[in-house]
Amino acid sequence: MREILHVQGGQCGNQIGSKFWEVICDEHGIDPTGKYVSEGGNDTQLERINVYYNEASGGRYVPRAVLMDLEPGTMESIRSGPFGKIFRPDNFVFGQSGAGNNWAKGHYTEGAELIDSVLDVVRKEAENCDCLQGFQVCHSLGGGTGSGMGTLLISKIREEYPDRMMLTFSVFPSPKVSDTVVEPYNATLSVHQLVENADECMVLDNEALYDICFRTLKLSTPSFGDLNHLISATMSGVTCCLRFPGQLNSDLRKLAVNLIPFPRLHFFMVGFAPLTSRGSQQYVSLTVPELTQQMWDAKNMMCAADPRHGRYLTASAMFRGKMSTKEVDEQIINVQNKNSSYFVEWIPNNVKSSVCDIPPKNLKMSSTFIGNSTSIQEMFRRVSEQFTAMFRRKAFLHWYTGEGMDEMEFTEAESNMNDLVAEYQQYQDAIAEEEDDYEEEEGEEHFVEQ
Ligand code: GDP
Repeated sequence: MREILHVQGGQCGNQIGSKFWEVICDEHGIDPTGKYVSEGGNDTQLERINVYYNEASGGRYVPRAVLMDLEPGTMESIRSGPFGKIFRPDNFVFGQSGAGNNWAKGHYTEGAELIDSVLDVVRKEAENCDCLQGFQVCHSLGGGTGSGMGTLLISKIREEYPDRMMLTFSVFPSPKVSDTVVEPYNATLSVHQLVENADECMVLDNEALYDICFRTLKLSTPSFGDLNHLISATMSGVTCCLRFPGQLNSDLRKLAVNLIPFPRLHFFMVGFAPLTSRGSQQYVSLTVPELTQQMWDAKNMMCAADPRHGRYLTASAMFRGKMSTKEVDEQIINVQNKNSSYFVEWIPNNVKSSVCDIPPKNLKMSSTFIGNSTSIQEMFRRVSEQFTAMFRRKAFLHWYTGEGMDEMEFTEAESNMNDLVAEYQQYQDAIAEEEDDYEEEEGEEHFVEQ
């Protein structure tokens, strides 16, 4: 058994986390009371159930999940929601103070006060595991709790379990979705932490999620519910290889080994096909070539960055449903051959594909994409520009220094993120030397003509 321990924190983290559990319960045949409801003896549903669930007395399956927040509201609505009873009541840890969208409150003051109670629950769950493979954390980076306290927890877990994997589902802020001006501060301070203390981060960018809802799904006023529908489909797709037998990337470490050529560059673009809005999914049915085309399309990426502006260091394509593996292999080779300039040539065979024959609910087939693309720097640049615009004038800084933070930490976080951008750029250019020379020559000619 190779268990994963799930933690969700803050409003966003709890909302996307509980949706994730609803979706995977459905896929594994677990009802809201934790009972397995067999659908004609589908063994694969239970074969690896221990990765995410504990088995309690009476044959009940209980999510190995810890829920934390600095205010009670979100967790109360989860508890009274459709799957509220499935979680272990002792694993709800919350305070009353709130973090007021202030990373410093989550990381250094209010959150630091509550963190030991969270760690107690984490420890208890970890002790119950046969062989814990690692942790997954759901949170947003723009607020105070998921962001500040979430990264505090990640660093504490790293300290206590240095040889376990840490996967995050991190929601990046966008002004299109949110109206709090300090979000770039909170996000940058978090990225600073994630670069050092997380092994793999699935980037969920509210800017891209909003655009998908608005442009592709034609929703005129997308809600968090709409955004989270995309997130939960993606999370289900990304974790499919961990939850069902016989898959490529069958544990968190294998996933990391395949996708991360340099340790700091562990921020992944994820894509999903077919894109559906809530309630309409049963009508969508695509062929393998259509799924392949869509999953590589910039419009299907949950991160507002265009892969065609960069290069893939590595990528993984996961298909679900009944289909021909041969056709999948052919399609993937086809994508690589037609777009070879978008893959670094110094990592041969850097695209992997796999097929899981169990489709998500309400779809015959789907595909999930995980890419380590240098173009993700576009998103980091966006946040960095918003950060710098305010930090240059030290705007809103007093909210953070008032909680005891040093300005130095802002400066360091800013440089760490800028370094990350530079590293992506470096590997993007590393392979383009010939083309660069060519462009320079052209440029010179142009200059002479003038
Ligand atoms: P916290 O409770 O202090 O961690 O703060 P929030 O989770 O509310 O963080 C605010 C950020 O999260 C903003 O960027 C919001 O746009 C985003 N956010 C809040 N709730 C959701 C949600 O349910 N889904 C998504 N996609 N984003 C959310």
